[in-house]
Amino acid sequence: MRVPLFATSLAEHMPRIAERLADVAASGRYILGPEVEAFEEEFATYLGARHCVGVGNGTDALSIALRALGVGPGDEVVVPSFTFYATAEAAATIGARPVFCDVDPASFCVTAETVERALTPRTRAIVPVHLFGNLAPVEELRRFGLPILEDAAQATGATRAGRRAGTLGTAAAFSFFPSKNLGGLGDGGAVVTDDDEVAERVGLLRSHGSRDKQTYVEVGYNSRLDALQAAVLRVLLPELDGWNERRRAVAAAYAERGLGELVAPSVPAQGGEHVYHLYVARHARPDELSARLAERGVEARSYYRVPVHRQPGMASYLPEAGPPELPGTDEAAATNLALPMGPELTRAQVEEVVAACASGST
Ligand SMILES: *Cc1c(COP(=O)(O)O)cnc(C)c1O
Repeated sequence: MRVPLFATSLAEHMPRIAERLADVAASGRYILGPEVEAFEEEFATYLGARHCVGVGNGTDALSIALRALGVGPGDEVVVPSFTFYATAEAAATIGARPVFCDVDPASFCVTAETVERALTPRTRAIVPVHLFGNLAPVEELRRFGLPILEDAAQATGATRAGRRAGTLGTAAAFSFFPSKNLGGLGDGGAVVTDDDEVAERVGLLRSHGSRDKQTYVEVGYNSRLDALQAAVLRVLLPELDGWNERRRAVAAAYAERGLGELVAPSVPAQGGEHVYHLYVARHARPDELSARLAERGVEARSYYRVPVHRQPGMASYLPEAGPPELPGTDEAAATNLALPMGPELTRAQVEEVVAACASGST
């Protein structure tokens, strides 16, 4: 039985998407305009945030939000090393220095302790990542008194105590890359915040630092959420909670079938609703396990095997004394394996994954 790593499908929604794309094509309003504004409003309402500003992608959302929070050249930004490269890259592209902190390999997220160890008098912002859909402890980071930019790219729809990921810090960056929990038919992103000034500055920066196309008050970006993508996202946003519910049901089915005796599933954050962007577990020999799964048609893959602080592109940002010691990161990188997940995963496929993990296991 073939079991894909990403069990998602937009087939059911394609007719409606095609209709809405045709509407936008006919409208002639392709850059910003009513479709983007409507999505921004709907997404802000969904999250319970004051403002949403659509941008070109999640990486730009991070860079632009950092600048809007007042981060600039020479400033330090604390980021986990066990994340997608873009989290740190976004700080580097605005001239800031990413300072890498460790993660707890059980949750794959930063903790207040790992962040605290990376703080210096030059720290200007903290970027916790809700990795794989699990909530980072953003509330505990508030005590450091620094701006917090949530990297919520993998956690659209996750909640804790009735609040959505993306409304726990000062601002948040979202990505609508097709594989994310809410994805479009191409690139897209958004910055979300309750802070009026931050939202205003993000709006300025995404359009070359100009409000009126006459006066350019900052050096900005050309980075806007496309009206066509906004139309797609407006069709899909009402589906998100149902999809995330099904992702959690798949995780529960894995647990019921005894997957926890074969691998170490990631531990959901206290009081949080995980949205399982990926279902990532740890195993002492993930490559052997994934090879065994592949023989039975079950897709699995390790993420971030080389963590960001060991990537060649980050070499010049490391302290002169050498790379930091991040044992939790090294453990997460060496042992993680993502198993099939998605709203379309069937009961039979769940059983096949568990059976494949059990076959030949020692
Ligand atoms: C996908 C992702 C990004 C970047 O989003 P893009 O839209 O691809 O630029 C940033 N951070 C994390 C954790 C991501 O998963």
